[in-house]
Amino acid sequence: MMVAMTASRREETGEEISPTVRSEAAFRAAREVMPGGVSSPVRAFGAVGGIPRFIAKGAGAILTDLDGNSYTDYVGSWGPLILGHADERVVAAINKAAAKGCSFGAPTEAEVRLAELVIARVPGIEMVRFVNSGTEAAMSAVRLARGFTGRDAIVKFEGCYHGHVDPLLVKAGSGLLTFGTPSSPGVPGTATADTLVVPYNNLSAAKELFAEHGKRIAAVLVEPIAGNMGCVPPAEGFLAGLRSLCDQHGSLLVFDEVMTGFRVAAGGAQQLYGVQPDLTCLGKVLGGGLPMAAYGGRREIMEQVSPLGPVYQAGTLSGNPLATAAGIATLEALAEPDVYETLETRSARLAEGLSQAARSAGVPVYQTRVGSMLCVFFAEGPVTDYASAVRSDTKAYARFFHAMLEHGIYLAPSQYECMFVSLAHTDDLIESTIQAADEAFDEVARG
Ligand SMILES: *Cc1c(COP(=O)(O)O)cnc(C)c1O
Repeated sequence: MMVAMTASRREETGEEISPTVRSEAAFRAAREVMPGGVSSPVRAFGAVGGIPRFIAKGAGAILTDLDGNSYTDYVGSWGPLILGHADERVVAAINKAAAKGCSFGAPTEAEVRLAELVIARVPGIEMVRFVNSGTEAAMSAVRLARGFTGRDAIVKFEGCYHGHVDPLLVKAGSGLLTFGTPSSPGVPGTATADTLVVPYNNLSAAKELFAEHGKRIAAVLVEPIAGNMGCVPPAEGFLAGLRSLCDQHGSLLVFDEVMTGFRVAAGGAQQLYGVQPDLTCLGKVLGGGLPMAAYGGRREIMEQVSPLGPVYQAGTLSGNPLATAAGIATLEALAEPDVYETLETRSARLAEGLSQAARSAGVPVYQTRVGSMLCVFFAEGPVTDYASAVRSDTKAYARFFHAMLEHGIYLAPSQYECMFVSLAHTDDLIESTIQAADEAFDEVARG
């Protein structure tokens, strides 16, 4: 697609222009005024090299950059856009809400409606508090778990990302993994002193930890499907095992479903795997592309949140009317028949096509997928945790990434992120993506 558009513009203008000339200029200006030229690190293309495409607009599954190049988008704003870009229903809901005022700092009926939709779908949620980002949701869930249990220690897993919350910014995957930093300067040792880290999918390590520290552990925080070191599904029995460990030791089980919530099933990973957490973090899909997240769980625990209880948490823009409207429109659209079946069928076809393309080219990859989140690891063996994820050949991924971009396919500019399929990815787009991958893997194989 991109190649065709560039060629036609060359014919029109008769001059040789780089297909990224406007993005390059914008990136130069951006770097003068924003660290790395971006508002969030991985966007800067540091892990793959080259010029980040500055986006002019999105429609359905298609992104268009400043230079007029179009791409089939598998980033989907890093997860929220399960309906695709500028979905008519979501845009209409936002416009309607905006016309009535952007923020009140007072309760609205729409928040109640969204809360009811969330509670009806997510098995572990009886009450919910809206916040503005996944980071805030995880931060607040940790505070609540500590407040409720009167304990300080929290358990997290290597390679799981819960936003840039100080106590959780230890071996945290995503951007940190992309840039090879185990943790961040500026996080004092005191902030992470009560954070205990265990390898993902390693139940026996978690058991050993509980045997020693069980009485101190307020909560186990886990991505029920790890999505920030690429897509790493939970091993059989892993989540259920964590559930019983928490029950035995009076600790809370917190599922960070910021990525998986409303993505892998209507009720998220907890519904898919039949394991109910005490608290759940939501975000991404919940806001339909606007800043919106939430934490919720058992009534008894949520009743500890201010003003009902003593655990303080607040937000000027929390429950923002525009974000709430986008969230309601998104969840309502996801209630239509066969939505998750459609995502499953298309995502399965994509995963199978990508694997086949890699095999034909003789490029060793390990393909993972749960519903519409998937990852192609440039690795030989199975990827089950952080240690096996970091064995990936990130240079090969970078070559694949650029080859796909040349063919008009926009993937995450890092090996350690998921691909997301949306309802706007038609069967035709999936097939053209597989065709592009056929050529891209050949190019990777040629070196
Ligand atoms: C994206 C993500 C977060 C952070 O959400 P932000 O809105 O970026 O702060 C937290 N947890 C998980 C599992 C995520 O995927």
